[in-house]
Amino acid sequence: MAGRFTGSFTQQEALPAEAVEAAVAVLQSGRLHRYNLAPGERGEVALLEAEYRDWQGSDYCLAVTSGGQAIQIALRASGVAEGDAVLTNAFTLAPVPGAIAAVGGRPVLVETDITLRPDLNDLADKITGSGAQYLLLSHMRGHLCDMERLMQICDAAGVTVIEDCAHTMGAKWNGIRSGNFGRVACFSTQTYKHINSGEGGFVTTRDAELAARATILSGSYMLYARHGAGPEQGAFAGARYDMPNCSARMDALRAAILRPQLARLEGNIRRWNALYRIVESGLAGHARIALIDRPGAESYVGSSIQFRLPGLAAGQCRAVLAAAGARGVELKWFGAGEPVGFTSSHESWHFMAAQALPGTDRIMATLFDMRLPLTFSRADCALIAGLIREAVSEVAP
Ligand SMILES: *Cc1c(COP(=O)(O)O)cnc(C)c1O
Repeated sequence: MAGRFTGSFTQQEALPAEAVEAAVAVLQSGRLHRYNLAPGERGEVALLEAEYRDWQGSDYCLAVTSGGQAIQIALRASGVAEGDAVLTNAFTLAPVPGAIAAVGGRPVLVETDITLRPDLNDLADKITGSGAQYLLLSHMRGHLCDMERLMQICDAAGVTVIEDCAHTMGAKWNGIRSGNFGRVACFSTQTYKHINSGEGGFVTTRDAELAARATILSGSYMLYARHGAGPEQGAFAGARYDMPNCSARMDALRAAILRPQLARLEGNIRRWNALYRIVESGLAGHARIALIDRPGAESYVGSSIQFRLPGLAAGQCRAVLAAAGARGVELKWFGAGEPVGFTSSHESWHFMAAQALPGTDRIMATLFDMRLPLTFSRADCALIAGLIREAVSEVAP
């Protein structure tokens, strides 16, 4: 065996010194709750909301406790009610159908195509077949679909689009930021996403009344005037009485550590993409390895990479996992029968009605996934790509 990678696939970078100082200042102030403000103080959460709104190029931004809470709040604020059908990708992570189930909705899964994007023909068929009026579009693993065509299909059918941008914070389609296509967008600031507060999330929208409903849902009590990027007070006229308080507010400590990270995000996107291109070109040209197409219209954030090993049987895929693991390379496989770590398939989501997705199953059966933390060097990435080639060749010469 040629080599072995000895680094960690789950080690994030330390937070910038500025974030540590801001955190200490919040701790010394004792004012950790977002509405606990000194006279004249705007507070870290309100400042972060305004900065994220401006960076995203939206009208309103609400900071919440997690990406999953952002999705639940966005679904309810969009009007999803008990028993409503909500379309979503079959290839996504458990918190996505989980959020639909949590608000009483009925997930209707859309097939995934060979580029890991939702199959837009199946989407059109399932809109007609299910009568669903909502699509929770998960830009899973950062792969943006043809957003113009998707919006055409949904607009023509009167389907409200809620974007799950947990993997596309900073990505663009034809120059437009992911999250600015649908009626409302959800982001995560959980440790493994693009900015890190442990847990956290955002809801962004251009719809003032939706923003007001989301704000009341997040648990603002009647203190919504203290928000940093919320709508005019008039927009709250209905929401203040109609929306239940779900207590999902972001706190000052998390906001304080996110602000310096947001300021560094563009630079970090360039760093991620440099690592991604090294792994991608290192895997290219291997007869067994199929890379995932990246359309020219897409500006992605390469914080993870996926590839397929078409033609390999389940036993061989398992052997590739083991051979890569023996070389210190931690791959995830979406074809496993049982959910492992963060990875699962629609067949293990027993909280919803089982659905037949033969196209998605065929793709996930040989689909592999790997994280690219910014603690990897360029040399690490070149080594890892070589080790993956070796592992695949060992199993399937
Ligand atoms: C992480 C993730 C979420 C949920 O975000 P949390 O902040 O962990 O709740 C939603 N969708 C996708 C695709 C994710 O990867």
